[in-house]
Amino acid sequence: MRILRKIISQLEMPRDQRPFGSGWLSGSFGLLASLAGLLIVLLRWYPETFSYPQIAFIQDSGVVTVALRFVLLAGYALSLISLILSSRKTLGWTALAVSVVASLMATTQPQYITDVPQSVYFGLDYFIINVLIVGFLFVPLERFFPARPEQTVFRPEWQEDMFYYLISSMFVQVLGFITLAPSNLVNTAIPLDDVRIYIVALPFFVQVLVIMAATDFVQYWVHRAFHMIPFLWRFHSIHHSTKKMDWLAGARMHLIEIAILQSLTALPMFTLGFDPAAIQAYLLIVYFYSSFIHANIGWKFGFIERFFVTPRFHHWHHGSDRAAIDINYASHFPIYDWLFGTHHLPETEWPEKYGVVGDSVPKGYWNQFKYPFVKKKRKSAAK
Ligand SMILES: [Zn+2]
Ligand SMILES: [Zn+2]
Repeated sequence: MRILRKIISQLEMPRDQRPFGSGWLSGSFGLLASLAGLLIVLLRWYPETFSYPQIAFIQDSGVVTVALRFVLLAGYALSLISLILSSRKTLGWTALAVSVVASLMATTQPQYITDVPQSVYFGLDYFIINVLIVGFLFVPLERFFPARPEQTVFRPEWQEDMFYYLISSMFVQVLGFITLAPSNLVNTAIPLDDVRIYIVALPFFVQVLVIMAATDFVQYWVHRAFHMIPFLWRFHSIHHSTKKMDWLAGARMHLIEIAILQSLTALPMFTLGFDPAAIQAYLLIVYFYSSFIHANIGWKFGFIERFFVTPRFHHWHHGSDRAAIDINYASHFPIYDWLFGTHHLPETEWPEKYGVVGDSVPKGYWNQFKYPFVKKKRKSAAK
């Protein structure tokens, strides 16, 4: 545990204390490479245990073997560079140790493991793979095109948000089940066959666009209700309590809110008879899109900002400036905010600061989980 704390404190080191050449970058990337190597080895060792059918190819793909050698080699090289350069050795030693363990494991493949019960690590692999993919995509983008250059990857409260990410990945199947419940109800109660015949005949990409438009319409109103109804705001204020915006910040959301929001916004998607492939495509888009709009990315989008939600648009939604209160509810198409009078997007500025006015939300996952249920006298209906 102490070593973990030490690693984290080294990762969180302020940028001015770890200039280029200090061994920090090689140490962090070395650790990442060795962990990725270890993950690949574990996936090979416990094929039935992981809940991701899509990664079965890892078993017998030659490409994966090459990739594994590459990350392990990178793990060794980077950890050695870090050990040479850095006066603090924890990152380097850890990366080296993980690389050694992973390569020892890679050369042996135990046979007795095949009768391990199914999905012991249910959701954990899903979490790790998602974090690696989304992180690999957004961390460099945030580093090279930041909206706020002073903000680092390991900013305050990143561990809490990572924990949110973990929890919602662990509950992904439960949440999926809850999400489908209202749609199943509608499907049995209301005959929609005429609409379905029409929709399934639409071209694929039109279907994806229609799903986006329909879900965002519902999402807009559910989201607005979460701001307007004090009881619901207690749940949603947790999402707004983050004071640093990046790709990880969007993960902070109360489980109850995820369940309500998802099950209602998914209603048009699962009741109107879309092609399952179009639904899959939408889910993939929305997965990256929601990380993207929270990301610390300062791209200028010009006229595109009028048609699609961008990081700056959603950052304004998270702003705690006066002008940023109860605006920009849409998550795909700003047109809903235009139509319903909640649109706010100055020419080029970004909000001054983020968070909940009055700072009423406690810190830490469990405190935030309990927060909506704990009776407390609130002085004002903060944002
Ligand atoms: Zn909100
Ligand atoms: Zn948000």
